[in-house]
Amino acid sequence: MGKIAVSACLLGENCKYSGGNNKNDKVLEFIKNKEVIPVCPEVAGGLPTPRVPVELVDGVAINRDGINVDKEFHLGVERMLNKLSGEDIDMVILQPRSPSCGTKQIYDGTFTGTLKPGQGMFAKALMEKGYKVVEPDELDNL
Ligand code: SF4
Repeated sequence: MGKIAVSACLLGENCKYSGGNNKNDKVLEFIKNKEVIPVCPEVAGGLPTPRVPVELVDGVAINRDGINVDKEFHLGVERMLNKLSGEDIDMVILQPRSPSCGTKQIYDGTFTGTLKPGQGMFAKALMEKGYKVVEPDELDNL
């Protein structure tokens, strides 16, 4: 059996922009007795926690203060892909709606809480490399 990579915030790590986490009981139950690799591209890219929230504006990572953090986002994605490469990964469980980890919907770049269909930067890179990516709600159907 391969390993499961999981957004670190879903595991209860306080790496979320707010300084909190997205600890998810469904995820914790699912990974019981499995080998897990925690991943957080934003922290891996050198961004602090807590940090100003970021959205993708035309695909570019910009924070709510208008600061461009695209370099950090890309660096974090690269580092996390390196961390996973060479590992036997069955699937990656990712936090919904994040500009890094969201697999179906992300905020639309207007900082008004408006969602649009799309992927976060890390989720997109994982999909392009052929990883199976899922969000917690999909675990019931596996
Ligand atoms: S980058 Fe992903 S793992 Fe890190 S806090 Fe955001 S959603 Fe969680």
